[in-house]
Amino acid sequence: MNPYGNLSTNHSSWPVLLFIYNLPPWLCMKQKYVMLSMMIPGPRQPGKDIDVYLRPLIDDLWKLWEEGVHVWDANLQQSFLLHAMVFCTINDFPAYGNLSGYSVKGHHACPICEQNSSFRQLKHGKKTVYTRHRRFLKPYHPYRRLKMAFDGSQEHEIAPNPLSRDEVYDQVKDVVNMFGKFQKKPSSNAYMWKKKSIFFDLSYWSDHHVRHCIDVMHVEKNVCDSLIGTLLNIKGKTNDGLKCRQELVDMGIRQVLHPISKGPRTYLPPACYTMSTTEKRSFCQCLCTMKVPQGYSSNIKSLVSVTELKLVGLKSHDCHVLMQQILHVAIRGTLPKKVRVAITRLCFIFNAICAKVIDPKQLDDLENEVVVVLCQMEMYFPPSVFDIMGHLVVHLLREIRCCGPVFLRWMYPVERYMKVLKGYTKNQY
Ligand SMILES: [Zn+2]
Repeated sequence: MNPYGNLSTNHSSWPVLLFIYNLPPWLCMKQKYVMLSMMIPGPRQPGKDIDVYLRPLIDDLWKLWEEGVHVWDANLQQSFLLHAMVFCTINDFPAYGNLSGYSVKGHHACPICEQNSSFRQLKHGKKTVYTRHRRFLKPYHPYRRLKMAFDGSQEHEIAPNPLSRDEVYDQVKDVVNMFGKFQKKPSSNAYMWKKKSIFFDLSYWSDHHVRHCIDVMHVEKNVCDSLIGTLLNIKGKTNDGLKCRQELVDMGIRQVLHPISKGPRTYLPPACYTMSTTEKRSFCQCLCTMKVPQGYSSNIKSLVSVTELKLVGLKSHDCHVLMQQILHVAIRGTLPKKVRVAITRLCFIFNAICAKVIDPKQLDDLENEVVVVLCQMEMYFPPSVFDIMGHLVVHLLREIRCCGPVFLRWMYPVERYMKVLKGYTKNQY
């Protein structure tokens, strides 16, 4: 977080919070029970040297697990030996890279697919996208045989197995950590793993299936942003444009969208994923007239710019509310039916993912649904929608299976806590 708000743009402090999962689920994320265990002061972010700062915390955690601490039980009027372990870490995606040591940039940015992640380097947009979600479909799904609707080829590969805990441990166990600025590259055969995380000092850490969770809040925010930017064709946020269309020409798909040169001008035919001006107006008006209960969300009306027909200043919780309840209502009657249905299904998936109660029997169906919807998005939307955050949606269900409902391990309580911390900064010095 930046403790100085808007006064200093590049100051970065890193609070480290502990949540107690022994408490009942309706209490354990409450601010009263959050423990601010340390504060990495900044002004620069620690990057992968964060392990140096975490050493005292890890020492305490090591003691808590290996030796235990004598604690007084006021109810039974006797002392007992308390043991505690870290269940998972939860952070945004760049911090995921810092903590785990995985390089979350470049062609193999997905830490769960690792070397099997399928990427495409866009030549015109200079962006890496992670597509081919048809690999995650069932073996004989009809989408696998389609060519022109997707990238021009059939898909016969099966889904890559998620990287298991032992595979990760085998890769990082021999890495020699080198901290600090001036250093030689660690020589190891670990492919994308740049360090052995300090958490491996805890004896149980190598037994965890999921060590660092993907934060649903950030995934939802990024997906919502790129979706709304593309639907409303907001300048600077849209994934559509001349470069995107040239990409389609290179891939040889969707001829109707190819740019047409008329003299000095280039004409981009209207696409199914952008709204017409009339549709934009009805979308914005729908949002403006939306009424919600007190405390449910921020004032949605203030997010809409009716003159410019776009949404401005979307915060993560606004995106959450949009994706959960509002977006699929607001797009009714606009867009072609197939695109509208795909977006609605995506909204329903996020609604199911964020549910507080999840039936484990339904996870298989949900997992299939996620893949089908992502394939539909690949069909209708330009490839640049699938940045790494768009791809990570496919792995969210696996983490629910391993770690339980997301409301216990997403960053909303953390963000609220950071707001409190920022309130303490009265004087910059
Ligand atoms: Zn992946």
